[in-house]
Amino acid sequence: MKKPGNDDQTEVIQCLHCLNRAPMTKVAEHDAIREHFHENFSFDCGPVRELLLCPSCENVILRQFVSHSEIPEEREYSYLYPQPPSTPEGVPSLIAKAYDAAHQVRSIDTNAYGVLLGRVLELVCLDRGASGEFLGHRIGDLATKGEIPDKLVEVAKGLKDLRNIGAHASLGELTIEDSTILDDLCRAILAYVYTAPHLSQKVQDRLRSRKNNATTAENS
Ligand SMILES: [Zn+2]
Repeated sequence: MKKPGNDDQTEVIQCLHCLNRAPMTKVAEHDAIREHFHENFSFDCGPVRELLLCPSCENVILRQFVSHSEIPEEREYSYLYPQPPSTPEGVPSLIAKAYDAAHQVRSIDTNAYGVLLGRVLELVCLDRGASGEFLGHRIGDLATKGEIPDKLVEVAKGLKDLRNIGAHASLGELTIEDSTILDDLCRAILAYVYTAPHLSQKVQDRLRSRKNNATTAENS
């Protein structure tokens, strides 16, 4: 296998595994460019895929751009692996916006990320009508109301505690590893409170519409 040279370094990009920003090493390239015919002219077009290696965590990244012989090369990359995190389905728009805002600062400031994910948790409590003076009390109230099971109370409290570390310099600093745990905790709560009921509703709607279609077919 050939050793990568200078040409095999990419521009500075962010690794979605470890969030480090650096030039990545291009370790393999594959293209599926084909000749296309249109009336009396032809052009070459197809995706070019690049496999990159992060120098920090040594995980791989797969991305691609579409090459077109008639269009000056303007590489617009889409990332195939790993996929950037998306907001869990069914989350109300205000909470989804706060979750996205947290992700925008994740690679820049892990402490700010922790604080902003704490805000997501505050918004969930507000949306579900939890009461209590402090966030810890409001999380307990969510469990009392049956909005989250007891096992998720510990998850939510873990998120709150990590948020506190991000907010108070005297408690230390949040690390990249902490930020991954924070994201998992937050997603677990959003999935339980919003995604599961949303999917259940979708299934019920689907079954109802199939039943209605079957009834219409029977009567026709
Ligand atoms: Zn990495």
